[in-house]
Order: sequence, then structure tokens, then C-alpha cells
Amino acid sequence: MFRIVQIMSLILMAFSGVGTTSSQENTGTYALVGGMLIDGYEAPPVHNAVVLVEGNRIIAAGPAHEVTVPDGTPIIDTRGKTIMPGLIDMHIHLDLIGHGDYDEYYKFLRGTERLPEVMPIAAKHMMRAGVTTGVDLGSPFDILETRDRIRRGEIPGPRLVISGPWITRIKLDGVPDSYQIVISSPEEAAEKTLELIERGSDVIKTWLGLTRDDLKAIVKAAHSKGVKVHSHLYKVPAMWDAIAAGVDVMQHVGSAKMPPYPENLLRKITEDRIPVIQTIAHRIWVYPATTDNPSRLDTPELQADIPDDIYAEMQRSFKNFRALSYFKDTPDEIRHSKINARQFIEANAYMGVGTDAASPLNFHTEAMWREMAALVDSGMTPARVITAATKTGAEILGKGKELGTIQAGKLADIIVVDGDPLFDINAMKYVAVTIKDGRVWFDKKYTTDALTKIGTAF
Ligand SMILES: [Zn+2]
Repeated sequence: MFRIVQIMSLILMAFSGVGTTSSQENTGTYALVGGMLIDGYEAPPVHNAVVLVEGNRIIAAGPAHEVTVPDGTPIIDTRGKTIMPGLIDMHIHLDLIGHGDYDEYYKFLRGTERLPEVMPIAAKHMMRAGVTTGVDLGSPFDILETRDRIRRGEIPGPRLVISGPWITRIKLDGVPDSYQIVISSPEEAAEKTLELIERGSDVIKTWLGLTRDDLKAIVKAAHSKGVKVHSHLYKVPAMWDAIAAGVDVMQHVGSAKMPPYPENLLRKITEDRIPVIQTIAHRIWVYPATTDNPSRLDTPELQADIPDDIYAEMQRSFKNFRALSYFKDTPDEIRHSKINARQFIEANAYMGVGTDAASPLNFHTEAMWREMAALVDSGMTPARVITAATKTGAEILGKGKELGTIQAGKLADIIVVDGDPLFDINAMKYVAVTIKDGRVWFDKKYTTDALTKIGTAF
């Protein structure tokens, strides 16, 4: 009772006229008060916590009796909710919003012509899901325009780390040429890597058919510029090539219809702490979720963010989703994947969380909670998944000093979840408030006084 009275008086003080802030200027101070704090360290949560934000930084975080909230500070009441670091999705596609078929999607968008319309939708969806950082692994450089609009604060969206086009020996039909760089020698691979970095790639994404020498050349060129290499990998020989070449991040491993991985490979990956991003939910959990409940494909929430003609085209693509080529191997994958996913978890591999969203039916609005839930299904504890999706993600990106945990000095990327994800990870579906770089973005259905005063609705 004492606590409630204390918080109510803080709330009253907050709106007595002093100290209200403009989020646009990003210079104000505010506090999240009363919720359960998960700081990202896989440690027990702090109950009745306070997180104090000034400008774009967290300046204090801890139990209410240890953190002093200055008089007049606006208060976001988080009682009954969870405060945690913004999520880091280590594998996204900002050009995709969940359409059922890639070929038809790019035809409908007239190649890349309508990407400037689509990418902000994906970015907004990610913010609704509490994703404050996303690693885009395979977009044409059209993405730079959306990235810059997000950076200027014009539209809601996560911090973006982008690869630009992927490097491959095998051309993927059905996607525009500007998505891929097809090479035929290690020399060419090195040259194209440097070109990509010059044009704006923050990381390099490698795709299929590359030899060990290609990968070595790519890694050497990328590392000479301080850039990391993420590789699309499923099969064992390709994984050994990637390890020999010094690839920085293994993407997708553990997510497909592979027989169980050999013990020595798992041991090497774990001992060397090579980051692994499994992306297990996108077919294997999303498909059964859709057969169980097809109405998840057509909701007012989804429709609200998408122009009518694009929404109608998406609905058309979902009509007979079981027949989509994307899901042709899914029953096999479902049988294998639980073994594969569990292998990496039991080996204690160094894992971040990535979703491959928004691949078919895998909307950005849901992808992270589904991936986190799939990892819990496969043997991770909720606390470990939350750390993987926050602190570990930041470390893999080389941003561990700035992002990934809630503590004084870090950038204020914070989410408020309506429920307790340590009790049930599916609470991650209910993100109430997303704060990025100190700026408060929130969903109108969670409106409270503090949010309307200091936040930006979307
Ligand atoms: Zn992908």
C-alpha cells in the first residue's frame, strides 16, 4: 500500500506542470516506475523498479528505494508490467511484410519501385513488437533512404544495421538483381566486399555456393575495414568452410531439415564462441500456428498499417498458404528442427535471436515473440532467451557497451511488456511501450497521461 501511495504521489507530482518534456528534443528526463525490471543479465528480476532516463541515456536503474526520482519528473506507470531492454532482431528483411510468395511480391511491387512505401511499414511493425535494433541481411541499397528517415526521427523504426545486397555464386531467380552480387572467384569476392562497404554495408551477408577460398577472401576484405561477415548456413560442410574462413556469425544453423549435427562441430562452435542465430520459428512454428488459426493472417491491427491495395494483394497470396512453395518442406523441417535447435541450446552455443522476418506469414509484428517462444519450446529458459535477444545481440554487433542491458550509462532502448515473460514467454506478444534512443513511441491502445505528454503515438 505504501508503495502505491508513493507511486501515485510521484505521478501527481509529475503533472503538476514542472518538468514536462518534449520527446522530439530528446533532452527531457522521465522515469519508468513500479514495474518488474529484467536488466538483460540473466539475473533475477528487480521488483518495484525505477528506470530514470535523461535525453537518450539511462541515468539510473534499480529498486525504487535506491533510485531517487527528481520532483516534477514525468512518470510512466509500469506497475504490473515488465521493463526490459529493447529487443535486437539479428536477422530481418525490412523489404518484406509477410507476403506469401517472393516472385509475386516483387512483381506486385514492380521490382524495387514500391520499397520506399513498404519499408516504413516493416519498420513500424518492428517497433510495435519492441524491436529497437534490427540487422537487415539482404536488401538493395534502397534501404538507406528508410534508414535515414528513421534516424532523423521522421518515422518509427529500429536502429538498423544493414548488409545491402548479399554475395553469392548462385543467382536467386525471382528477386531483383539489386539484391545480390554474383561472384565467380575469390578475387572478385574480395573486390565486391570492399565495394559494398564503400556503398554503405555495415555487415557483409554471404549466401550460397561460395567456396572456402571465396569466404576467406570476403572475411579478409571485410575485416580490413572492421566489418563483420554473417553467413547463411545450413549444411555441415558449409559450416566447416565458414569456420575455417573466420566467418563472424552463423545465420540459420539449426533451423532446417538437417539430420542431427555432429558433436565435434557443435563443440567447435561452442568452444570458439562463434555467434549462432538460429531463426527457427519462421517456418516451423509459424506454419502450424497458421494452420491452427488462419485468422491470424487478417487482423485489423495488420490492416491498419498497410495501404489497401498492398493488403488486398497480401490476402490474395494467403488464400491457399499450404500450397506455397515456401512451405513445401515444412513437415520434414518440423520433424528435424526440434532436434537441431535443441542441439545448439544444449551445447550452450553463444546465441543471439533472429527471425528472418518478414518471410511469408512471418510478420514483423509477431516474429520476435514467436522466435523467443520457439527457443523456450526447444529448451532455453525465458531468462536466457531474453538475454540472447538483448545483451548477446548487442555484443555480437560490437555494441555491447551502448546497448542490450538496462543500466546507467547505456542508450535508452527500453520496452514495457504487459505481463511477465519469465513466467510465460508469450507475454512478449504484448509490448505496451517501445522507447528507442530515449524517445518514447507507444501504441495508441496503451495510452496513458504520461505517454500522451512525452510520447509519440503510432
Ligand atoms: Zn534471411
